[in-house]
Amino acid sequence: MKLRKATAAAAAALVLSLTATACGGDDGDGDSGSGSGGGDKIKIGIKYDQPGLGLKEPDGSFSGFDVDVATYVAKELGYEADRIEWVETKSADRENALARGDVKFIAATYSITDERKAKVDFAGPYLLAHQDLLVRADSDIAEGTDLNGKKLCSVTGSTSAQNVKDEIAPDAQLKQNGTYSECIAGLQSGAVDAVTTDDSILAGFAAQEQYKGQFKLAGLKLSNENYGVGVKKGDTETVNKINDALEKMVSDGSWETAVKENFGPANYKNEQAPKIGQIVQ
Ligand code: GLU
Repeated sequence: MKLRKATAAAAAALVLSLTATACGGDDGDGDSGSGSGGGDKIKIGIKYDQPGLGLKEPDGSFSGFDVDVATYVAKELGYEADRIEWVETKSADRENALARGDVKFIAATYSITDERKAKVDFAGPYLLAHQDLLVRADSDIAEGTDLNGKKLCSVTGSTSAQNVKDEIAPDAQLKQNGTYSECIAGLQSGAVDAVTTDDSILAGFAAQEQYKGQFKLAGLKLSNENYGVGVKKGDTETVNKINDALEKMVSDGSWETAVKENFGPANYKNEQAPKIGQIVQ
């Protein structure tokens, strides 16, 4: 009798947990991943439209350097790849997504800045990129100063757009979209004269089959972009675990492998792996 009772309770618990899983495991308490064990999932924020970094493929799978970094980190936190739930976090949404607990962490070309550090915590950095310009292959634009009066596209909530307004080209006609793919479409159609963001991102777009030969990178290092893994403000335990994972990823060679696989096709010459906690100003 006792045994049957226990079995019934276990079965009920199983049904409950299956129901929770079917609903994506989101019980509405803002908990986006709570350690190893069980069948729970971890929610991770990435970009969906940046080739070589964070891209949702037509078959629904995900590729890119950020995806590989996030997958490695998740494993170190106790989550195999099949327990990752990817969430799109556009540039302007990242701080809010972390504050709300929509995701446990974000690996989405997310530069560490003092302004952002007031709202979120960062592990890393795990990559150093630089702001650059992408223009049409026949364009005369070669420097930041050539942009004044020109139509320039970047993304809302990015350091790239902020740097344009602050110093790179305050007199450019800056159009801000929600994603970089929208800017690239504008560059192809002639709606804008240049797109600006990190060279890592621009190189990925330029190498895509449908754009081959149409665009060129100016090759300017207009800023230092130290990519960090964003975590909810105050979650020091997760920051420390992610820093350990990133160090391990570099020391066991997985970082280099991910760099080659993801940046090789775009011929993007990345910087060496940064040291944890060392921000290049
Ligand atoms: N890394 C820059 C940033 O965090 C530009 C790329 C992006 O918008 O994700 O804002």
